Amino acid sequence: MSSAVVVSSENLDGQQQSSSTPASPAAEKVNLLGMSRAQLEKFFEDIGEKKFRAGQVMKWIHQYFVTDFAEMTNISGKLRAKLEQICEIKAPEVVHRHYSKDGTRKWVFRVGEGAGSLVETVLIPAEDKTGLRKTLCISSQVGCALDCSFCSTGKQGFQRDLTPDEIIGQLWMANYSYMEEVPVAERERSVTNVVMMGMGEPLLNYDAVLSSMHIMLDDFAYGMSKRRVTLSTSGVVPKIDQLAKDIDVALAISLHAPNDELRNELVPINKKYPLAQLIAACQRYIAKDGNESARKHVTIEYVMLEGVNDQPEHAQQMIKLLKNLPSKINLIPFNPFPHAPYGRSSRNRIISFQKTLSDAGFVCTIRQTRGDDIDAACGQLVGQVADRTRRAEQWQKKVTQRQEILRTQG
Ligand code: SF4
Repeated sequence: MSSAVVVSSENLDGQQQSSSTPASPAAEKVNLLGMSRAQLEKFFEDIGEKKFRAGQVMKWIHQYFVTDFAEMTNISGKLRAKLEQICEIKAPEVVHRHYSKDGTRKWVFRVGEGAGSLVETVLIPAEDKTGLRKTLCISSQVGCALDCSFCSTGKQGFQRDLTPDEIIGQLWMANYSYMEEVPVAERERSVTNVVMMGMGEPLLNYDAVLSSMHIMLDDFAYGMSKRRVTLSTSGVVPKIDQLAKDIDVALAISLHAPNDELRNELVPINKKYPLAQLIAACQRYIAKDGNESARKHVTIEYVMLEGVNDQPEHAQQMIKLLKNLPSKINLIPFNPFPHAPYGRSSRNRIISFQKTLSDAGFVCTIRQTRGDDIDAACGQLVGQVADRTRRAEQWQKKVTQRQEILRTQG
């Protein structure tokens, strides 16, 4: 493996890389990592080569995790030399990697200059009836503009969209982390599931996310089952309809509140696309036919905030709201972050909420908290990123106001 990026990241072992690393002379080259098959076919035709080369190169990149053209042995020496000249295969730079005792892995990638240009990716292993599942939570943006009140990423404000190279690079690196010591011929893909649920709102970086998901599903790349690729949105309604036309993947909704008044506060995009519109979009997304579709139900994500959205009446409102939507509900114990104005609901409260929903006929699970020792749990991504937008200051103000209200309510 001779990629400069990969070699440098492997030397880090959780240490911050020196910012004095010299710029790579390959910076001007075309990066093939984030190209879909159609884009790669066009690329090869444009350089006067046969388009079947696209499939060959994709397999080397995404199935054997090779970044050095010299190792692509079914490609002629002449073409390899030509590719070496004009293009590269380059994952984003890893600045930290942490492997938890419980098997959870986290990477922090640098995707630009400055402390605010970091994104995180988390891999969570779990046993289920199909064997060992490795689920990768991928980021789609640096920061996020939507400012959900329980989310630490939202407090950083929006920096920029990730490119397809940077999105698929997270999946590439997670797979590669299990294969780096394995001879090329014996390498295989390790990540079994992907959730577009990391930093950012994926439907607000639509084209790059769509193109990346096509690479995930492509048999010449990761060949993932469409049921194992999930896009999670806070509710960008027009883009949910667009997604239904463009690709068949599983959909998750960050619901977090069962009525508009509360959701306006927790998930402010609700003011633009209220619950009635969101639920109707989910209903349109569900496929009416085809057992093979990934769209037989929607997953509802619901973070449990003590005394805010975890009361018996909220469970009853959920039952009413979701009664005509095939759905599975995932209750998420809140992971407090510094200055968060919320606490985690008690275990008993969460179990009682689950029971109410289960008794009403819903499949309702409680997410296990994982990777606490490496801050990998949901809502803790890039906890130490520099605040470049004075959001922290505004946030502190909101917290103080909320505490004041709670005090006056006794
Ligand atoms: S929960 Fe998702 S959409 Fe909301 S602020 Fe956080 S990253 Fe953005």
